[in-house]
Amino acid sequence: MLINLGRNIKILKTGIIENASCPNCNKINTLNFSIYGGYINVIIIPSAPIKRTILVECSNCKKTYKLKELTPEINTNFKEQYKKNPVKNPLWQYTGSIILAVTLSFAIYTGIQMKKAEKQYIINPLIGDIYRVNNDGHYSTLKVKKVSNDTISIYINDMETNTYSGIDEINIDKNYNKTQFFTKQNLRDLYTKNIIYQIDRR
Ligand SMILES: [Zn+2]
Repeated sequence: MLINLGRNIKILKTGIIENASCPNCNKINTLNFSIYGGYINVIIIPSAPIKRTILVECSNCKKTYKLKELTPEINTNFKEQYKKNPVKNPLWQYTGSIILAVTLSFAIYTGIQMKKAEKQYIINPLIGDIYRVNNDGHYSTLKVKKVSNDTISIYINDMETNTYSGIDEINIDKNYNKTQFFTKQNLRDLYTKNIIYQIDRR
């Protein structure tokens, strides 16, 4: 999850709504608008811009309005005026989001490519392939010892671990002593059931 470290709000633009009179005091060209905006900081990298707020204040009577409280005519005036010179979002405000999106899509892409490769690996085992297995929360490994046609001779790891990350510690030669025979179909079944959840090939 993203950590929202704070919002950076500032006035982006100010001006007078031209040719409009204050609904309160009827004086013309006294409606000052201020556009507030900014961005949310996600860990020091500015991320998505936040929604703009527009406040209008009459310089004569000091009454403040939200845009929608003013007449449709004044709103039209403002929109026409704003279109000519809008507030732009600098690209750097999006930097955080872009970095995040690129990182995520790369991770997803890599994951998909890995799974594609594994589907080939399980059909055609090679000596040295490591199968990471999850047997009800007990993690261990199998290692392909020999392949002859449909019979695969496989080392069973003597050790298991109950943490996902402990695999590397037990995946060592001296733990591979027992051998068991599998058919290719046996292996495919284990892979389909996600008992073999990852295949490492060097
Ligand atoms: Zn006024």
